[in-house]
Amino acid sequence: TKKETSNTELINFRKQYLGKSLSLQYKTPIKMVRGAGQYLMDEIGTKYLDTVNNVAHVGHEHFSVVKAGQEQMALINTNSRYLHENINALTSELLKTLPPELNVLHFVNSGSEANELAIRMAKAATGEKDIIASEVGYHGNSNMCVAISSYKFDGKGGDGAPEHTHVFPIPDNFRGKYTGNNTGKLYVHEVEKCIVNIHNKGRNVCAFIIEPIISCGGQIELPEDFLAQSYKLIRKTGGVCISDEVQTGCGRMGNTFWGFQLHNVVPDIVTIGKPLGNGHPIAAVACTQEIADKFANGMEYFNTFGGNPVSCAIASEVLKTIKRENLQENALKVGEFLKNELKLLAKDFPIIGAIRGQGLFLGIELVDHNLKPLAAQTDYLANRMKDHKILMSVDGPDHNVLKIKPPIVFSKENTEELLFYLRKILSEDFMHSI
Ligand code: PMP
Repeated sequence: TKKETSNTELINFRKQYLGKSLSLQYKTPIKMVRGAGQYLMDEIGTKYLDTVNNVAHVGHEHFSVVKAGQEQMALINTNSRYLHENINALTSELLKTLPPELNVLHFVNSGSEANELAIRMAKAATGEKDIIASEVGYHGNSNMCVAISSYKFDGKGGDGAPEHTHVFPIPDNFRGKYTGNNTGKLYVHEVEKCIVNIHNKGRNVCAFIIEPIISCGGQIELPEDFLAQSYKLIRKTGGVCISDEVQTGCGRMGNTFWGFQLHNVVPDIVTIGKPLGNGHPIAAVACTQEIADKFANGMEYFNTFGGNPVSCAIASEVLKTIKRENLQENALKVGEFLKNELKLLAKDFPIIGAIRGQGLFLGIELVDHNLKPLAAQTDYLANRMKDHKILMSVDGPDHNVLKIKPPIVFSKENTEELLFYLRKILSEDFMHSI
C-alpha cells in the first residue's frame, strides 16, 4: 500500500543519512502527524492513546501553550542579554513552586544541559570532581552526563564507570541487592561506601545525583528515609545534593509538585527538563544562592537559546496551565485509581511482580515465580497494546518494566481503556507460554 511504501522510504532515508545509534520505536514504526491531549494520530488518521509521553505534559499541542509560543515568536526572539519580561515572569512562576532555599535559576535547553550545568556548579562550589550516582541512573547525553549515567556506561557500548564516578546499587527493594521492607539503611550504607572510597583516594565528594523515582531503572521508588539519610552523609562531607527532576517534576507525582518533596528533603540543586516546555526545548537549573554565587566566579555563563522570550512564554504558560486545569490533582486522582486497579490486576496475573510509582508515573514489572525478569513477555505486551492503539514504553535494566507516564491530562476513562486491554493481552497464550 501507499502508506507502507512511504514509511519504507522514510526508514530507508533515515538508515542512509541519519546516525545509526538513533533508534525507532516498535517493530513496524509509526509515522505520527498530529497530537492532541493524550492522543497521537498517524498519517491515515488512526488515533493512539499515549501513556508514554511525559514531555507533552499538559497534553499534546495544548492550545494555550501553542498560542503563547506563536504570539511571542511573531514579536521577538533573542538571547537573554537584552531585558525582557518573559524570563522574569517565568522565574517568578517557577520559584513559587520551589522551597525558599532554592532561589536562583539558570535556563537551558534540555535535561542534559541542565545536568551538565548542575555538575559544573557542584564542581565550582566544592572544588571537587567525584560524583556519586545510582546504578542504572540516566542523566543525559553529553560527555559529563554519560559519565555519571550507569544506564549508559554499564550498558551496551559503554566501558564502565570513569575514575571520578562512584555507583551504588540501585535501591530497588523488589529485585535489588537488598529486598523487602526497611532496606533504606542498607542502601544508605552503600552510599556511605562510595564516600569512604572517595576519601580513601585522598579526595572528597563533589555531588550526589539521583532521581526521586529512578525512571530508566524501571520506575524504582526510593526506600523510606534513603534520600534524607543519604543527603545528610553527603552534606557532612561537603558534597552537593542534586535532584534530577527531568522526568518527575512539574506535578506528575500528584501528591507533590516535585519528586524530592515526597522525601521531605531540600536539594542544593534541582534540574528541570522535559515537561517544562511541553515539547518545546526549555530546561532549567534551580540552586541555592550560595552555589550560584560560587559558580559566578568571573567566567560568564552564556547560553544562546537558554531563557529566550519564546521558550519562557511557553514554559510560563505550561506552569499556568497545570494550575488552571488542576493537573497535579488530576495526576494524583487518576494515578491513584490506576495504581489500585493495577494492583488488583496483579492478583489475577501473577507474572505481574510489582506495581509501583506515584501519581501518573507508574511501573508494572513482569517476572516469573523465581523473580526472573520476563523481557519477551513485556515486549510482547507493549507491541500488542500498540495493536489496540495504546502506546506503552518498556524500560529497566532487564527490559521487563512497562512504564506509564502519560500527559497528565490522562483521564479515568483512559485508565479504564488501558486496564481493559492490559487484562485482555495478559490473558493471551503467549504471556503464559514460557
Ligand atoms: N535526566 C533524566 C532523568 C532523563 O530521563 C533525561 C532524558 N530521558 C535526561 C536527564 C536528559 O534530558 P534530555 O534528553 O532533554 O537531554
